[in-house]
Amino acid sequence: MEKRILTGDRPTGRLHLGHYVGSLQNRVRLQYEYDTYVLIADVQALTDNFEHPEVLRQNVFDVTLDYLAVGLDPERVKIVVQSMVPELAELTIYFMNLVTVATLERNPTVKEEIKQRNFKRGVPVGFWSYPISQAADITIFKAHLVPVGEDQLPMIEQAREIVRRFNALYDKVLIEPKAMVGEVARLPGTDGAAKMSKSLNNCIYLSDPPEVLRKCVMSMFTDPTRIHPTDPGHVEGNPVFTYHDSFNPDKAEVEELKERYRKGTVGDVEVKQRLFAALDKFLAPIRQRRAEYEAKPERVREIILEGTRKARAVAQQTMKEVRTAMKIAYFD
Ligand code: ATP
Ligand code: MG
Repeated sequence: MEKRILTGDRPTGRLHLGHYVGSLQNRVRLQYEYDTYVLIADVQALTDNFEHPEVLRQNVFDVTLDYLAVGLDPERVKIVVQSMVPELAELTIYFMNLVTVATLERNPTVKEEIKQRNFKRGVPVGFWSYPISQAADITIFKAHLVPVGEDQLPMIEQAREIVRRFNALYDKVLIEPKAMVGEVARLPGTDGAAKMSKSLNNCIYLSDPPEVLRKCVMSMFTDPTRIHPTDPGHVEGNPVFTYHDSFNPDKAEVEELKERYRKGTVGDVEVKQRLFAALDKFLAPIRQRRAEYEAKPERVREIILEGTRKARAVAQQTMKEVRTAMKIAYFD
């Protein structure tokens, strides 16, 4: 059997540079080597957006456009809407018995996200337990590999634990997945925060037009200890240089800028202008492919429906095996 990839994104906004280096890049690179399923995780997005579910609709299309724009091949990759595969909900329920409350409470990413979100009426059970539903997402497709950003490593670990427990308890049906972190495990935000994230409003989006991109780059956080362009500056931990390292293919230019920055012979403005130029060049073909698909909404709709249909067939097959293993296939 061809090995599989499962990965996904929450349809809470368009995709950004963090998604690209953290996960999209690996998906594009591996799409012809692996049978690839990319999940638009709307059920997961609901766990912290249930009060305004209407925001998800447009984002399902926007995220799909981003996928196609970065070069996921719709003839090859299955783009899947999570809520349209109800078998995922069933598997989640069975998995809930295999995880303890204490384990969920220890998940460092969920802890961090709960702090960030500041839920007014307490933490919803759905949000708190999303690692379990994410384990169902991964395992129902029998994925071997999960390209994700660093923040998702505890989720993959949780999924592996569940698989081991399930296979030992019932029967060897599920596959223990491996995480694959991207070239940059965690891209910082334009504000210097540890992670670029839609929820933190510190993103450069793959679909940003040049004017928006310029504004974002020119207002980026740099080295807070540097007041004048003649002060020696810090390159390490400076997001402007992190972005140069990730998106500027001209390594000689980047090295030269770093050297001058350390010596205090180049200002932030020039470093940012060069970053803008590099990013604009990187994004230009992505914007163009996005526009081509944007002009064909019927085709995009078809791609989503077709991907979801194929994925659901796989999920239904796995659930048959799961029920048999659990000895609850009473009438088979
Ligand atoms: P939200 O704020 O809605 O959670 P997000 O920006 O964190 O949005 P997700 O949809 O949660 O994005 O993440 C999708 C995938 O992209 C995950 O694998 C995640 O690890 C990866 N990812 C997101 N942001 C970054 C980042 N800044 N650096 C590296 N990977 C990232
Ligand atoms: Mg997130």
